[in-house]
Amino acid sequence: MIRRGRRSRQDNSVSRAEHDRIITLVNSLTDAVLSTDKDGIVTIYNAAAMSLLDVNAGIHGRHINNLLQLTTLQHQPLDVFRQLSRSPAIRVRDDILMLLKHGDKIRLEATFAPILGGHSAVADGYVLILRDITKAKSLEQERDEFISVVSHELRTPVAVAEGALDNARLLAQRGYTRKVYEALQEAHRQVVFLARMINDLGTLSRTERGLADAPEVIDLIPLVKQLHETYAPQAAAKSLAFNLDIDPQAGSVYVSRLYLEELLQNFITNAIKYTPRGAITLIVRRQQTHVTISVKDTGIGIGKSDLNKIFDRFYRAEDYRTRQTSGTGLGLYIARKLAQKLETTIHVTSRLNHGSTFSFTLPIYH
Ligand code: ADP
Repeated sequence: MIRRGRRSRQDNSVSRAEHDRIITLVNSLTDAVLSTDKDGIVTIYNAAAMSLLDVNAGIHGRHINNLLQLTTLQHQPLDVFRQLSRSPAIRVRDDILMLLKHGDKIRLEATFAPILGGHSAVADGYVLILRDITKAKSLEQERDEFISVVSHELRTPVAVAEGALDNARLLAQRGYTRKVYEALQEAHRQVVFLARMINDLGTLSRTERGLADAPEVIDLIPLVKQLHETYAPQAAAKSLAFNLDIDPQAGSVYVSRLYLEELLQNFITNAIKYTPRGAITLIVRRQQTHVTISVKDTGIGIGKSDLNKIFDRFYRAEDYRTRQTSGTGLGLYIARKLAQKLETTIHVTSRLNHGSTFSFTLPIYH
């Protein structure tokens, strides 16, 4: 449904079939395409252009500058016609903002191209192609921010480990064996933390790239029993009871095994970490077409003000008991991403000093 103005001179030299093919091609593009004559009057445009400009009526015959209010990233108005007529060849800019009717702004990439007719070096008209790059740019920005936060988070343990090792070297020269041991222990603690951080970042990147997410049929009882077996020694080392409360009708689910296991491992290791005494319970409950899997603990609990922040990246509760344990603050951020991939949401209930329950629900596979 291309909108066309007067037939141009060139139409005479282009067969009707070819002309129709070009029109179909332009209309099938998701980028907005506008073509003007040499004075900036719109002659051709496609459906995507109408949608971007949010117009129903024809825009043929209007001047391009009256149709588009564009600015630079610094909010300087952009003379679109000038941009077009100034370009002797195709030119692309991705630093353009467009103000929408309701006040929102979108980021655009614009291609300005002259139409050079015949042998003349003077343009017969112009083509403007606009692409909405708002999402791509905000992802790019998020990634840059993430890299900067990660490097900041890595810098501290590296500096502490480096300082401790330097200290150990000096102390060793002076023969202070006990102090050397302590300094090495501190350096070791920091290196273990760094290893955990790198591991978490690896899981995060794998999840975000959607690797290993092929679904398979998973029988829940063996999976939960296996996890119980794996983590029983860690719970026992803290003298915690580790219980299983499984519905014998638990059945199967159809999801990525890796994601499901990583999500549960996350909850179990946190439950063990944040429970000084009492018990951890792995619960599997079936409700007709769905199954809910929960990890319940009798640990330190999470305060109300922390509850909506624990899924943020690098967030660790202010509670001094949290700070007594080492952690990257990435576990639940990853858990939320894993849950999204599994098409479920995490539900948390917690009471300070009484314990927490992390759960999610999946459809039963029939
Ligand atoms: P961390 O590496 O600090 O464990 P997470 O992202 O896994 O990072 O968890 C974020 C924060 O949520 C933790 O620092 C802790 O304060 C809180 N938290 C998570 N699980 C529990 C739990 N089972 N009991 C109490 N607090 C928890």
